[in-house]
Amino acid sequence: MKFAVISKGDAISNECMYKIRTYLTDFRLTYDEDEPDIVISVGGDGTLLYAFHRYRSRLEQTAFVGVHTGHLGFYADWVPDEIEKLVIAIAKTPYQIVEYPLLEVTIRYVRGGREAKYLALNECTVKSVGGTLVMDVEIRGDLFETFRGDGLCISTPSGSTAYNKALGGAILHPSLEAIQVAEMASINNRIFRTIGSPLVLPKHHTCMLKPVNDVDFQITIDHLSLLHKDVKSIQCRVADEKIRFARFRPFPFWKRVRESFIQ
Ligand code: NAP
Ligand code: MN
Repeated sequence: MKFAVISKGDAISNECMYKIRTYLTDFRLTYDEDEPDIVISVGGDGTLLYAFHRYRSRLEQTAFVGVHTGHLGFYADWVPDEIEKLVIAIAKTPYQIVEYPLLEVTIRYVRGGREAKYLALNECTVKSVGGTLVMDVEIRGDLFETFRGDGLCISTPSGSTAYNKALGGAILHPSLEAIQVAEMASINNRIFRTIGSPLVLPKHHTCMLKPVNDVDFQITIDHLSLLHKDVKSIQCRVADEKIRFARFRPFPFWKRVRESFIQ
């Protein structure tokens, strides 16, 4: 089996990374940064997001494991004290694979040409470059509303505990193949109206955002933020691809939520 370790880069995470690398090599696993079967992320959720995007082109062949070194680590099940245990589990026991849904974002441009396709593990957010974001929101090809406000956040179930949660969105269990559309400070009065509630869309119910006036947007995909110019549409739907996590012991989602947000 081939493995790779990705560290957040601080002293504690780096120390863990070297330990994992040495122990797994001692167990005769091969270190292979290019084609790993298993990727161990050491740091926080930000590190796992980075690892996910680093190995985005081989999601079907890669399983992820997270070790958290002092950060929230919603995606990370292991702590530095357990590294010996984790290494033995990776090397000696067959592990279970748990798959979580992803968000597919397709951005098309006014002048045609190549469309941009992204996969998000947490979410995509759309904001204007200056002033109010104005966008037509279409669901399954029909106009649903014209949104005016700070922005829109389209999240995956496992991303529902991140930015989406801060926007008052619901927490979705990752066994649900769905995406959630949440508003950022929408303008609501006699003249302008949006639904106001977060929407949960099932697979195949595509959400399309179309500019009304301005065509330049600040768009984030997880931790990556880019300015997109001359945008014609932003299409969001449940991706065909999934992220695979290697599970060595049960850690139910609701327990993870409770430990992250309640105690
Ligand atoms: P960051 O600023 O470190 O992330 C903000 C916090 O979100 C960190 O505590 C991070 O945990 C946590 N987090 C990330 N994914 C999560 C998830 N799926 N469930 C629960 N918490 C999660 O930046 P980052 O580490 O690069 O992460 C990027 C993410 O930040 C974005 O995808 C977005 O969801 C989130 N964000 C949140 C807000 C907000 O809540 N108002 C605003 C902007 C962005 P770690 O400390 O373990 O990294
Ligand atoms: Mn972070």
